[in-house]
Amino acid sequence: LLDGAGVPAPTIFARMSELATRTGAINLGQGFPDTDGPSAVLEAAVAAIRGGANQYPPGRGIAPLRRAVAEHQRHWYGLDPDPDTEVLVTAGATEALTASIIALTEPGDEVVVLEPIYDSYSAAIEMAGAVRRTVKLEWPEYRLTAEALARAVTDRTRLILLNTPHNPTGRVLDRSELDLVAGAARDHDLIVLADEVYEHLAFAPHQHVPIATLPGMADRTVTISSAGKTFSVTGWKIGWLHARPELVDAITAVKQFLTYVNGSPFQPAVAAGLALPDEQFRAFGEDLRGRSTMLTDGLAAAGFDVRPSDGTYFVIADATPLGYRDGAALCDDLPRLAGVVGVPVQAFAEDPSQPSPLVRFACCKRPDVIAEAAERLAGMRR
Ligand code: PMP
Ligand code: GLN
Repeated sequence: LLDGAGVPAPTIFARMSELATRTGAINLGQGFPDTDGPSAVLEAAVAAIRGGANQYPPGRGIAPLRRAVAEHQRHWYGLDPDPDTEVLVTAGATEALTASIIALTEPGDEVVVLEPIYDSYSAAIEMAGAVRRTVKLEWPEYRLTAEALARAVTDRTRLILLNTPHNPTGRVLDRSELDLVAGAARDHDLIVLADEVYEHLAFAPHQHVPIATLPGMADRTVTISSAGKTFSVTGWKIGWLHARPELVDAITAVKQFLTYVNGSPFQPAVAAGLALPDEQFRAFGEDLRGRSTMLTDGLAAAGFDVRPSDGTYFVIADATPLGYRDGAALCDDLPRLAGVVGVPVQAFAEDPSQPSPLVRFACCKRPDVIAEAAERLAGMRR
């Protein structure tokens, strides 16, 4: 968690956003939208502040939001968490993940994660004194295989940390891959932490399937999501989880001393968001799919090898055809070369010092911004 000099190292996302700010480059690095979410959701937060929702909310989150989460899970997926005992509101998905890992592991227990690995997973595992075991997804298919999963699961495994739709690969895991994870969880008596923050950002025909809906999985899954991506309000940091009561109790015990509570006026606003009509949720995904395609086409036209994403804010591009082998060095140079910022995929690796020519670009930006970035990247080889 600290660099060689004992200083907290900024995350790759913070470092790349700082690079964009310093150089004036277009920031396709850190995944945050450049337009805010639905006005009904924004206005509900303003109304909540004016209405006095400005003091500590209840420890598990306000009842209307817990009910909205439960209803959302029932409506979209046929899951049926009890809002009083099986739902917890958290400070973003990040806190849901960290509190769960601390609550559900003992020092030395092993946690299986998919590589490429989202940064907070490794930090949380380390803070819990647990041990990370990675299951590598290989470019460009990025599929989960039975062999790779079997190699990672041991007698010490306690949790499998699953993320689908997956950051940074843009993969939406299919039913056969989820069956592998569910099978391993049942066979080895494991709990699955399912990070589903991009649940509404899977592009048809790809469909997000919560692993909690698979046979025998509702009782051994902690399902985690967040308002940030779905409603384009990443700064609000309202997340939630649901699981069986004993697990939620254990996680709540940790959560109450991490943040205690958070985001009073944002909680009713997110409850309002979760009750938006289905068409609005579909429109978020459709709109993002258009931008993802635009970015994919732009990167291909600029000479990258690109894997079209199945969902998420992200697209991965291989810079090899442009003559670059080291994506980290390329990302440091990209503001000068093209006036654009991306994130090196090697930052998500088990060993981030290994050079890789892959770069992650974010598509959650206005179409004119994506078009300008693509134009600039195309200029690199002129
Ligand atoms: N998990 C994944 C895969 C993410 O991409 C992100 C945020 N970008 C998070 C968790 C964290 O979500 P939050 O901002 O709600 O803490
Ligand atoms: N999840 C965002 C991304 O992948 C970043 C969030 C953060 O900076 N912690 O870009």
